[in-house]
Amino acid sequence: MSYLRKYAPLHPHQRQPLDEKQIENSAGGYVYPVSIWTNLDRFLILGTEGGSHYAQEQDLTKENVDSVLKCIAEDGVQVVERIREISVSGRAPKNDPALYAMALAFTHGNADTKRKVQEVFCDVARIGTHLFSFVAFVDGMRGWGRSLRRLVGDWYRTKDDEALAYQVLKYQSRSKWRHADVLAKCHYGENRGIYRWMKGLGPEERTVQRTRDDGTQLSTTYDATDALPKLLAGYEELKQTKKLADVIRLIVTHEFTHEMVPNEWKDDVEVWAALLENMPVMATVRNLGKMTQVGLIKPFASAVQTVLERLSSDAIKRSLIHPIQILMALITYRSGKGVRGSLTWEPVPQIVDALDAAFYMAFDNVEPSGKNTLLALDVSGSMGSGTVAGCQGLTPRNASAAMALVTARTEPNYHIFGFSENFVRLPITATDRLASAVDAVSNIPMGKTDCSLPMLYALKNRLEVDVFIIYTDNETWFGDIHPKTALDMYREEMKRPSKCAVVAMVANKFSIADPTDAGMLDFIGFDTATPAVLSDFVRDADISDTV
Ligand code: CA
Repeated sequence: MSYLRKYAPLHPHQRQPLDEKQIENSAGGYVYPVSIWTNLDRFLILGTEGGSHYAQEQDLTKENVDSVLKCIAEDGVQVVERIREISVSGRAPKNDPALYAMALAFTHGNADTKRKVQEVFCDVARIGTHLFSFVAFVDGMRGWGRSLRRLVGDWYRTKDDEALAYQVLKYQSRSKWRHADVLAKCHYGENRGIYRWMKGLGPEERTVQRTRDDGTQLSTTYDATDALPKLLAGYEELKQTKKLADVIRLIVTHEFTHEMVPNEWKDDVEVWAALLENMPVMATVRNLGKMTQVGLIKPFASAVQTVLERLSSDAIKRSLIHPIQILMALITYRSGKGVRGSLTWEPVPQIVDALDAAFYMAFDNVEPSGKNTLLALDVSGSMGSGTVAGCQGLTPRNASAAMALVTARTEPNYHIFGFSENFVRLPITATDRLASAVDAVSNIPMGKTDCSLPMLYALKNRLEVDVFIIYTDNETWFGDIHPKTALDMYREEMKRPSKCAVVAMVANKFSIADPTDAGMLDFIGFDTATPAVLSDFVRDADISDTV
């Protein structure tokens, strides 16, 4: 490559720093450190579940925790605002990193930070599962002082009986936590019928003995509550019922979710038909295999139409379901067998198609930039380890194929290829099915990493590129010149103010984007906002003028 011969002797290779800002990455190459705030966003969106090629899950978590703690020390209120914003908008595949960061903020933050956590707590811990996760995280970090008891207790106290009943029935436990355990930690008494129910006690009048902090005994008698919330009463009836017709009547009357129905009824097609009527989008997507296995979803069945309607654009947007959850459901459903256990089914192709379409709807609306867009996927070995957001089988490597398709489908002028230490031809086009694109990338042999290749390839072939979009873990080390040098070289030789968007697929602190180059910018893979923000960046003329 003649350009490389011209430039390489004048510039450092990737195992040497290009400038004083660079730091060594885990592969022995030099890259730019991202700010602690970018690192925070990466953690909130990508999480650390499953670790990476270079770090075990716990090490990667520790690195991220250090970074979150630095942000909390710098501006804890700002951290909590970021947590809320990302969590509430549904931009992250999982809410656990947000809950973990919130537990850190409540443990290590100053008084203002803690007040901010109190303010946003129920926005971030929206459902029972979230509450359990938060409690498990915070329980390992600090003691149950009055402020924590109040924070968690308010989650119960501020909900009315019916809303709380729905939460405690749908989300009964997680890991070792049950609601009764959480109430006990909060020192919550029995002054509310539903609390008594959660503790396994009846709604009748009762006297409670309590030992005060100073050791004295306190005796309180509570009145009998009128009745349990309707949902709880219905649930108690459901547990006793032996007749299918009654089970179905109760499901329809109370709009029970599948979590509330005893397992003995879970193989009945009529039970699932009743459940499907009011099933939320998320549960529908998660139970497609089960509903196919019991025979509710089958060719020409009306349930297929119900599911297709539920996966319509408006419903998907309203539900805030994350595209990665749809992608995982698609991969599982198409395979005809459950991730664990022995559940198998005959997938209905219309459902597979609907999931494929729903994936794209779950991202923010993207306005195409119309620019010449080169999508370059790092398919090196390190990208093939770990998982994106803890999704089994979804590595940063094959997940990047799905992300690239989102942009490829909106941009009229695109070209996709892969790279490791060499250019890798990827048999993917915008009309490809998600699952086959993910498969295609999974099957490519692994290699070393050189993130300068997209620019070198474009220059060698005189491709007129407006933007290079590189999906990578930023663990580049093998190349003769740095990606930043290659971009500058491309701009100079081709006389084009081309930009470079770096889409991080792993939550680490590295980037090939030079923070002082306005034409290079960091993005986060599987942030639902990424394709739209990326398109803004590409279209924004002001930025290219400054290059
Ligand atoms: Ca690599």
